[in-house]
Amino acid sequence: MNVKLLEHTPKPERTIATAARICYAPVGADELFRVLSDKEVEKLVNLIIKSGHLSAVEHAVFTFAIDGISRVCSHQLVRHRLASFNQQSQRYVKYSSDLKFITPSSIENNPLAKEKFDKLNATALKVYQELLEEGIEAEDARYILPNSTETKMVVTMNAREFLHFLSLRCCNRAQWEIKELALTMLKEAKEVAPLLFKEAGPPCNRGPCPEGKFSCGKPWKKIK
Ligand SMILES: Cc1cc2nc3c(=O)[nH]c(=O)nc-3n(C[C@H](O)[C@H](O)[C@H](O)COP(=O)(O)OP(=O)(O)OC[C@H]3O[C@@H](n4cnc5c(N)ncnc54)[C@H](O)[C@@H]3O)c2cc1C
Repeated sequence: MNVKLLEHTPKPERTIATAARICYAPVGADELFRVLSDKEVEKLVNLIIKSGHLSAVEHAVFTFAIDGISRVCSHQLVRHRLASFNQQSQRYVKYSSDLKFITPSSIENNPLAKEKFDKLNATALKVYQELLEEGIEAEDARYILPNSTETKMVVTMNAREFLHFLSLRCCNRAQWEIKELALTMLKEAKEVAPLLFKEAGPPCNRGPCPEGKFSCGKPWKKIK
């Protein structure tokens, strides 16, 4: 999978700290943004995250280019309703013979399963192309394609939604592909907003696991 942080709010943590501070400041946000010290920004961001008063966090947004994920993964991703999405269309893009399929490692590491998996994907692609040649529109021919079909997306989340997404999808209970995606997105975001994402990840990174009997019971390996 390829995940790249395309764009983000410039100075996301300063923007968030300014938004939080405006609530009880006698001066305007323009001035606050300029005069807040780095120490004050750090203190405010930590306070907001700890207190859970997250509305100020919504002022920072992060846009990712994502490709090399399956339609299994993208289907889970688009369940996050407060994010914004664009996805390569299977109506307007006709796949050629170099279409990729995402292979889970359990299948990759099992020669017999891999043979069956590859054979079915190749057959699906062949029939898809035959249907196109017979004049079937791509929007209908795509019904033959498997969940493993690779897709490409642009995803934007504000930091509040992003933290929520990370909480659910970095968890060991999450399906492996979306978990890998979430962990990669977190790693990218931490580069530009280390304070904001310091405690990001599954709930067990911050306190007790809320999953009850479904808890994996394992400690979460924190991303540096
Ligand atoms: C481990 C795991 C297993 C899953 N298994 C299944 C499954 O078997 N079947 C299935 O269908 N889904 C499943 N899901 C998907 C899950 O049910 C959610 O659809 C998905 O995780 C998006 O989460 P969300 O609704 O909290 O967040 P988002 O859509 O990202 O929304 C963020 C938050 O905004 C608020 N919000 C958003 N929309 C509304 C609204 N309409 N009304 C009120 N508040 C709102 C909520 O507080 C919500 O938590 C699974 C998810 C995980 C992590």
